[in-house]
Amino acid sequence: MENVREYLGGRFTVVVGDICSFDGDAIVNAANTSLAGGGGVDGAIHRAAGPDLLEECKRLRQSTLPDGLPAGKAVVTGAGKLPFKGIIHAVGPVWRGGHADEERLLSSAYRTSLELAAKNGWKSVAFPAISTGAYGYPKDGAARITYRTVVDFLARKDTPERVSLVFFSRKDADIFLDSVESGDSR
Ligand code: ADP
Repeated sequence: MENVREYLGGRFTVVVGDICSFDGDAIVNAANTSLAGGGGVDGAIHRAAGPDLLEECKRLRQSTLPDGLPAGKAVVTGAGKLPFKGIIHAVGPVWRGGHADEERLLSSAYRTSLELAAKNGWKSVAFPAISTGAYGYPKDGAARITYRTVVDFLARKDTPERVSLVFFSRKDADIFLDSVESGDSR
């Protein structure tokens, strides 16, 4: 994975690569409400983790989450074959034009995931760009919310010590950097 930017003295890094090859305690999955796997980063994580992960998600559906996981929330599972202490499954909002609480729900997906990482004592966690693929959230708007949410959390808490935001392409990472560094959100 290629490191393209550091903020907060290195506590928050922007990297390019496959989130499954993150070197750290936990990764976040951009899951969907059904927790049934899917395309995009969700598919990549399930393929790499193996069938145990899907089984664990199914058990959650049968026990504590009969209606699935709503947008803005997150839940922890084991990591299957992946070398992490756990996987945090977060559901971002589907973009519906910007007047359906999307901002709050996207921020909540990040914040809830960070709270779960802290609760588990995980020192390093990697996020994908939640909602910016199939869910259609504009990348520049998502960048500003993501940046603000992560920076606010890290300013208040010591754990996790390190947060990485993983983009699948250099182009997406550059959109993030342009969005957070051009406006007043820095
Ligand atoms: P959502 O449904 O929340 O929009 P997607 O998985 O469709 O989630 O897309 C979220 C982002 O994850 C997209 O920017 C996509 O390019 C990226 N992505 C896809 N595969 C990977 C991967 N293996 N590692 C990191 N990011 C990935």
